[in-house]
Amino acid sequence: CDTIEKAASFIMSLPSPIFLPNYVAGKIGLPSSEATTFIDSYEPKTGKLLSRLPRSQDVDVEDAIRHARAAFQTWSKTTRTERSRHLRRISELLQQNRELFAVWESIDQGKTLERARIEVDRAISNFSYFSTYILHEQTAARMVDGVALTYEHRSPAGVFALISPWNMPLYLLTWKIAPCIAFGCTAVAKPSEVTSMSAYLLGILLQKAELPAGVVNIVLGDGPTTGAALVASPQIDGVSFTGGTETGIAIRRATAHQIKKHISLELGGKNPTLVFADSMAPATRERTIRIAATAAFENQGEICLCGSRIYVERAAYEEFVGLFTEYVAKTYVPRETMGAVTSAQHYSKIRGYLELAAKEKVTFNLGSVPCPVEECSNKGYWVPPTVLTEVAPNSALLKDEIFGPVVTICPFDDEADAVRLANDSEYGLAAVLLTTNGARMRRVGEQIEAGLVWVNCWLVRELGTPFGGMKNSGTGREGGEYSRDVFTVARTLHLPA
Ligand code: NAD
Repeated sequence: CDTIEKAASFIMSLPSPIFLPNYVAGKIGLPSSEATTFIDSYEPKTGKLLSRLPRSQDVDVEDAIRHARAAFQTWSKTTRTERSRHLRRISELLQQNRELFAVWESIDQGKTLERARIEVDRAISNFSYFSTYILHEQTAARMVDGVALTYEHRSPAGVFALISPWNMPLYLLTWKIAPCIAFGCTAVAKPSEVTSMSAYLLGILLQKAELPAGVVNIVLGDGPTTGAALVASPQIDGVSFTGGTETGIAIRRATAHQIKKHISLELGGKNPTLVFADSMAPATRERTIRIAATAAFENQGEICLCGSRIYVERAAYEEFVGLFTEYVAKTYVPRETMGAVTSAQHYSKIRGYLELAAKEKVTFNLGSVPCPVEECSNKGYWVPPTVLTEVAPNSALLKDEIFGPVVTICPFDDEADAVRLANDSEYGLAAVLLTTNGARMRRVGEQIEAGLVWVNCWLVRELGTPFGGMKNSGTGREGGEYSRDVFTVARTLHLPA
């Protein structure tokens, strides 16, 4: 489906609710286990039942792992050129079906169509980037005192569990699948039970792309049953996980005795945006407001990298709060330019924090406590953009990851205070720094405890740079050579000269 019309007519032709199958050994089908039960998934923008997916059981997971292991025997020995060709083909097919994936993702996750298109484009880049990366990658070789030649030899690390969350379903799943298969590994992937649609479509696409059977298998299901069975299996050589910190801890526990497993954890965040008064000068004021607002409200605030804690230098505080609130109110309009939050459960979580804000007598510059979830049925899960000020320093609103369209704004006194407040978090994923002072960009940027710091920009990505968090935001890095570290084993060989 290369046009929005074709995508829409395809979707209209599907039964309701749609039963989503697994993709195992190159075949699309529901799991055969008699114990399989089904999970209902609802459309965020309407609250109506959209799909049913299997809660794949241990036996289904084991079956998928067995096929992935069998495929690893041949896939790990294919040439880079051949693997590159397969990845290119997948990216081309995704490009041809861009609209279908975007419409689907928007319906299933709640995001706007515009946002979904950006993420499909990024999914396409995931495959095209790694299709060329493997053709040009280099390994180290050196002479040791003229007596030995040493060189680094990389081999695929094995069969991986690839587990992804619901906020950017296709993009994050392909961010794992593309490098995994590019470096010669095979996979059993499990998308979030909240948003499994695009993974189902991806299975069909991989079949059409004639990727050899078993190289990628997709099992649908929840965390406690399907995800836990996958992660714990001794037949799994590595886990690449993106999701919440608590789940990351559970995965570490479940695999603590399996030293051989490569574990990469991309977890939660509570990211600061620091606004210095210099960035509010007339020449840059508009840009400052726009970047701070985009970082807070893109994808309804459901991006792990969103800047949900804004700190503003006291001299510019009042002006910033006024202009920011005005900008957000006219730019992020639910149903028009902002989507719905992803599920009833998530809506209730966000609402709980807004009830707490009301109880703590925090100022709502924009937004209010939304209606109880019971009143949302058939209307969808809509939380309007919410701007909070006068928040107590020890409030959970400043500590916990709310992961919705809710932002706090607090003042700071000087640079040292800004750094202290930015780092006052158990998380360390990302930060935004808004200033026109060149020396400060580096001075402050290098002190912030975050894996990614954006200066006067946000969400700029180059796929070769290390992506990942500090502190409770994760371990390991992914991207380019960092993904290679996750999916390959390095040996050093020493040969006499
Ligand atoms: P989650 O941790 O609840 O679920 C993520 C995935 O893990 C899902 O597929 C789920 O089914 C699975 N899962 C749950 N329990 C499991 C278990 N015991 N064993 C194995 N798998 C299990 O997270 P979520 O609510 O889907 O996503 C939101 C979270 O993801 C937020 O905290 C957000 O910050 C984080 N996130 C992080 C990044 C990043 O790059 N650091 C990117 C996107 C989202």
